Amino acid sequence: REDVGGVRVVMTAERKGPMIIAIGSGKGGVGKSTLTANLAIALARSGVKVGLVDADIYGPSQPVIFGSQGQKPDARDNKPVPIESKYGVPHLSMGHLVAPGKALAWRGPMAGSALGQLIEAHWSKDMEVLLVDLPPGTGDVQLTMIQKFKPAGAILVSTPQDLALIDAARAGQLFDTAGVEVIGLVENMSGYACPHCGEVSDPFGAGGVEAAAGKLDLPFLGRIPLDIAIRQGSDAGDPPAAGDSSMAEPFLRIAERLQA
Ligand code: ADP
Repeated sequence: REDVGGVRVVMTAERKGPMIIAIGSGKGGVGKSTLTANLAIALARSGVKVGLVDADIYGPSQPVIFGSQGQKPDARDNKPVPIESKYGVPHLSMGHLVAPGKALAWRGPMAGSALGQLIEAHWSKDMEVLLVDLPPGTGDVQLTMIQKFKPAGAILVSTPQDLALIDAARAGQLFDTAGVEVIGLVENMSGYACPHCGEVSDPFGAGGVEAAAGKLDLPFLGRIPLDIAIRQGSDAGDPPAAGDSSMAEPFLRIAERLQA
């Protein structure tokens, strides 16, 4: 373990393969997938060999964010080969393995084994970090993930809203009881700058996640503003962390804090 700018980064020297970092949230729609994709891109920009697994089996959104919808992974030795992206982040999603728009109605064990296939795919040997975009909440897939693949750490995302915070605390407990270190909390949709008049308002409150991190004695990793450009970039397969606009900065800063 090393202390880096107040953030403890767990190094897993004893584990073969990349260090797994799970990104979780208590509820859906708080920006977990957005953070995972942009954090991966920000890490890749600073030279980290990083891959991404979209474990949000029931609602995969990474193919849209990376603009890789409709691409089918090759198979080698019966394992899927991750899809390369122009952002330097090979990734794999359930969305690449099933027909687009098909709803999955699997029970826990099947969802868990699907997740296993994604994590144990043909990742290149020099892969250092694998970010895993978990489904929201504390269900079977999260449990399988934690028990079977022993992430080195978890990052929790929440909006500043009370309800989202309570749910995030519950998700934190799930990792805690399984002995997985919560690396820190990120506040998303934090402050909204009006594109017309520039006035900053707080549609979901402000500072709630930092305060919660303090109460839970967890590191606070940073905040990402609510910005229409983030939503537009994500929908267009043009994630903001890849560009040079100010929207890349919050993600680059969080990536910096995570690095040894
Ligand atoms: P989750 O993975 O938690 O369900 P998503 O990352 O899919 O959430 O985000 C939900 C929606 O909110 C998406 O349309 C996404 O583009 C949008 N979004 C996420 N974060 C922001 C933000 N900071 N500013 C604007 N839109 C955002």
